[in-house]
Amino acid sequence: MLRPRYLPPPDIFPTNPWMFGAIGFDAEQVKQFVGQAETMFALSNGYLGMRGTFEEGTPVREPGVFLNGFYEHRPISYGERAYGFPLVGQTMLNCPDGTTLKLFVDDEPFVVTKAEILSFRRGLDFQQGILSRDVRWATPSGKRMHLRTIRFVSLTHRHLAAIEYELTAEDADTHVVISSELANRQPLPVDGRDPRLAEGFVGRVLHPAGRQCDGPRAIMSYRTQSSKLVLGCGMDHRVEGDCAFTAESTCDDDFAAVVFKAVMERGKSIRIHKYLSYHYSDNADAEQIRRQTGWTLGRAIEQGFRHILDQQRSDISRFWSRADVTIEAQRPRTQQVIRWNLFQLLQASERAEGHGIGARGLTGRTYEGHYFWDTEIYVLPFLIYTRPQVARSLLKHRYDMLDKARARARELGYRGATFPWRTINGEEASAYYAAGTAQYHINADIAYALRKYVEVSGDQEFLRRYGAEILVETARLWYDLGFFSERKGGRFCINGVTGPDEYSAVVNNNYFTNLMARENLRYAVRTVRAIERTDSEGFRDLVSRTGLAGDEPAAWENAAERMYLPYDERLGVHPQDDDFLDLERWDFAATPEEHYPLLLHYHPLNLYRSQVIKQADTVLAMFLLSDQFTSESKKHNFDYYDPLTTHDSSLSVCVQSIVANEIGYRRKAMRYFNFAAVMDLSDVGGNMMHGAHIASIGGTWMALVYGFAGMRDHGGCISFRPRLPDEWSRLAFPLMIKGQGLKVDIDRAATTYRLTEGEQLTIHHDGEEITLSTATPDATRPNPPASAEPESDFAACGFEPS
Ligand code: BGC
Repeated sequence: MLRPRYLPPPDIFPTNPWMFGAIGFDAEQVKQFVGQAETMFALSNGYLGMRGTFEEGTPVREPGVFLNGFYEHRPISYGERAYGFPLVGQTMLNCPDGTTLKLFVDDEPFVVTKAEILSFRRGLDFQQGILSRDVRWATPSGKRMHLRTIRFVSLTHRHLAAIEYELTAEDADTHVVISSELANRQPLPVDGRDPRLAEGFVGRVLHPAGRQCDGPRAIMSYRTQSSKLVLGCGMDHRVEGDCAFTAESTCDDDFAAVVFKAVMERGKSIRIHKYLSYHYSDNADAEQIRRQTGWTLGRAIEQGFRHILDQQRSDISRFWSRADVTIEAQRPRTQQVIRWNLFQLLQASERAEGHGIGARGLTGRTYEGHYFWDTEIYVLPFLIYTRPQVARSLLKHRYDMLDKARARARELGYRGATFPWRTINGEEASAYYAAGTAQYHINADIAYALRKYVEVSGDQEFLRRYGAEILVETARLWYDLGFFSERKGGRFCINGVTGPDEYSAVVNNNYFTNLMARENLRYAVRTVRAIERTDSEGFRDLVSRTGLAGDEPAAWENAAERMYLPYDERLGVHPQDDDFLDLERWDFAATPEEHYPLLLHYHPLNLYRSQVIKQADTVLAMFLLSDQFTSESKKHNFDYYDPLTTHDSSLSVCVQSIVANEIGYRRKAMRYFNFAAVMDLSDVGGNMMHGAHIASIGGTWMALVYGFAGMRDHGGCISFRPRLPDEWSRLAFPLMIKGQGLKVDIDRAATTYRLTEGEQLTIHHDGEEITLSTATPDATRPNPPASAEPESDFAACGFEPS
């Protein structure tokens, strides 16, 4: 059931287009929503991530420092096992936490929720890429203290985070102790009732592998037993200020602390710069990793906090210049919420380099840090249009998994490659095959994203070097998985699969899967033939890498052309799968609100035997391949499937918004968009405390660009059909297309397209072709008239960002 569960109170969380944070303090609120705030204020650069915990280490809910791809194996235990079930899972680990600086004033610990707070500010600053805090309080003995902190995870230095900690004794002489710590603590096992949460480990996971402690610097290293990774983490400090202090260090296998003691005279300050560095490797030894950790710390000390912060600001400003979305709305909160979302996309991806993007990025351990199709379908569009280099690296990361995907296909008895439904290291880590391995559509999703990347960026070299091999192997898989069914008139059928909607499982002919598989097969055929025609050496190379036989492309083409894609004449819809329309409709009226998400309250079989949908499935196909459906068909299908959709997955509302927009359901499009945009900040799913929903965040960008701006990019032909909602007066955003910069600026009456970079670009506006060039870089066209379609009833809560 869609509803906001947490509304940041506007008096405490003011509207500010470039910042999200609190300017007031309510101890009860802070205690109650500490987990949500840890996600809201999490920092990351795509490689290193830290939850937004308080420096004092308390109050705390789920502390966490994560490194993308740093995991340990864990055995998957089944009550009953069957052939091909993965026996070993992977779980992202919690690394030693260096965010802590405990403060004692006259030997009393400072705990923000217990102190008498005089003023308080804490916020994520999108323009600087920092989390800052400014708090003044009175100690029990009446002394006034002032603490200012700045924390950031560097975009420039991938392995570095930095904290500035500045304390002032405002009105009295004070004894102060600040204990700056780096502590290894694995998370406790979490509530086992929610299958989406990560498993904990029993016993030690990080095995000490040496340490070096030297004055204000401590470096520790660890080994994982089974994944055989070596971790180095370290901290170093510099202190400035106008009061005398001493520093003492302690260090053991799991804990290092540098304790600063200062006698602060009235009005004096102490400023500590704490640097944190994290490295890991699957081949370096512990000593080498400690050295690398030391190099990062050394460089940080040499460059100094201000310099590193300046670098952060300029990296961030580059990000905004290529990715910012401007919204002028009746509710100014909208702009702030959108920037928080965009900032999360930056944080999840920018320095991922060689890794994927976890379902929660690096903001929490839900889904164990695994990479899903979320990246290809929900996040890559944003990256393709704003940061093609990062998109390329994520696709290359899939290519790097290809050998394991080939091995998995063999294990399952097929040719080609089967990409894992969820993974960190390329091996299938899903323990529930019905909603895991059976989601073969991941193969077609990767092929779809690859095609979009190549068409929009023009990077043919990537296609030839890596993409073609992915296409050959995925096409092979489809060809082998499906068959020409006599009972279905010789049509190519794909049975025993699960589509995106996980409330139906192991079905025959999931419409989404068949349609996406057809695209995958066609794109493979086109690519192979184009290489054969134009690049004989490249073709020989492809044949030698894949063993491609001369008759394969024709066979794939035949399967694609005869793909089974049924249509139900009576209802005028495409059945989600062979049996879906025969099932009993779920009794929504008898389902209490607290039983959502259904997956936590009903046995899967109850769901599988009903017409009830977790997330956009056929409707998603109508968006991804929208050029293959008529408007009428989109409307019929939407009208049929929308009322059956619970949106129990956060991946759903953004897609419904896009399609609702296209078919003229403007109110519904807006409401679904609002839910997507505040999925985290209003905790729509009720699980924000466990991490940010990165796919929904990417989907929010899609709902803006593909939804309200009406962009479509089939075959690399970029077209727009803007439909600004009544509540907005402007929507503007930049895109990068084949190396040319385009700014799209929509107001109530017209849309202006501007070529901001490059020589020439052809786009379409409401069916009209427009060529922008250095000679005529701008074109303004009236917006198409907004349709006034009658809308079906929309019963979900009408929350909008206020
Ligand atoms: C959704 C999947 C998604 C996964 C990770 C599940 O709840 O059903 O589609 O990939 O979450 O975000």
